[in-house]
Amino acid sequence: MTVYFHLYKNQEREYVIQLLYKLCKHHGIQRTYDADAADAVFVSMNDITLIKHLREASKFGKPVVCGGFASIFPVTKIYADYVVQGEAYNFMYQFARIKKVADIIEIQNVATHTKPAVVDEYIDYALNPIVKVSPRGYYLYCGKGCNIKCSYCQLSHSRTAAQSCEIGVVYDAVNLVHNHSNGKGRLFTMMSHSPWDFGNSITKYLARMNITIPTYNSSDINWRGEEIKCGMEFATEEFRAKFAKPISTSDIATFVQKSKNNNNTVTMYMIAGLETQTQHNQLMDSFGLDDNISPRIHLKYSYIDPQPYTPFADFDVRKKIPLDVKEVFAYVNKKNKRVRTVPIKYIAHSTWRTIMQRAKTHEQANFAYDLRNEKDNEKILRRCEAEHPILLGNKSVNDLLKISRHNYNSGLRFENIRLY
Ligand code: SF4
Repeated sequence: MTVYFHLYKNQEREYVIQLLYKLCKHHGIQRTYDADAADAVFVSMNDITLIKHLREASKFGKPVVCGGFASIFPVTKIYADYVVQGEAYNFMYQFARIKKVADIIEIQNVATHTKPAVVDEYIDYALNPIVKVSPRGYYLYCGKGCNIKCSYCQLSHSRTAAQSCEIGVVYDAVNLVHNHSNGKGRLFTMMSHSPWDFGNSITKYLARMNITIPTYNSSDINWRGEEIKCGMEFATEEFRAKFAKPISTSDIATFVQKSKNNNNTVTMYMIAGLETQTQHNQLMDSFGLDDNISPRIHLKYSYIDPQPYTPFADFDVRKKIPLDVKEVFAYVNKKNKRVRTVPIKYIAHSTWRTIMQRAKTHEQANFAYDLRNEKDNEKILRRCEAEHPILLGNKSVNDLLKISRHNYNSGLRFENIRLY
């Protein structure tokens, strides 16, 4: 088999593409930069915004095979001929052995508009490359899934449980990076949630990925001068405990003080849309008083993204509550100068993401796609009500509060077996 990768600008440098290239080489799949010479066109989608890119792939007149994090959304089966669900290790092995592209349908984690498939969870860690992504940064794919299972998180709900490579793989990779970079390189262990506590032994050679606030608070690691990324997500303790990570007001106070003592610049991710302006403003009181402007705490808000296969899947997007982030900043700035807010993307964009991710038919998909540049949220809602009300969802926040995130049945089927 010979394949053409239809990539957007700079995508070739991404870890996933480098991994797929390695799997091609390992299993004997030819790659070509000439689409006419290919048996199939491969598209890797890591976000719904790449739907335009996927639609374009049909212009080559070859079967389009779509994979990647966002390939699980029903709409990909409308614009791709075949969709690879989950990991690619078994798929690439089997794809290399089929006689004609149509035989791809026999592969267990390949879905089409009419054929359901399982999500393949098998990761062959021995095949994962270490990829240099910046002058000092090196990536290694170390695991998938997350047992916290935040209610809105498709990543955790599209896997059964967290899995990771052996810790020795990380030690070996650190040694390689160290030798390759004369001690200057740092390894990013790509995974949703790290199960390891390395202490101070090799942490100076690891780049910081996201960490939870309680983990940071209780950690003995020397964090001096590091940049910290963490999720606060919701304004109230109730929503944090129910939908995400349980973080108390005193956890926040400890975190603010410790990050100041350690001179850590912080990026904190927040979810808007479920709580009121007053609740978001009141959260700012938890940061306490501080006249110093550094080390900075950047609050990065985005509107709730109720993705398919998560407990939030059917949230009614008409019930989203707009947030004025400038007002949050004005409120906090009177008390704590360390806290800064990053502008939030307009609410219509999040509504568009939702309806695109929910589309299941050609008509729904084309309807949603045509609204991709609409900046008026009300207009999108009214158009949906008139033409495709099913895209709006029907659950309130109170309904969501009743759904157990740990026992949630997404309807997905999983397999985790090495097939080669
Ligand atoms: S902590 Fe929550 S949001 Fe982050 S990967 Fe785990 S389940 Fe998803």
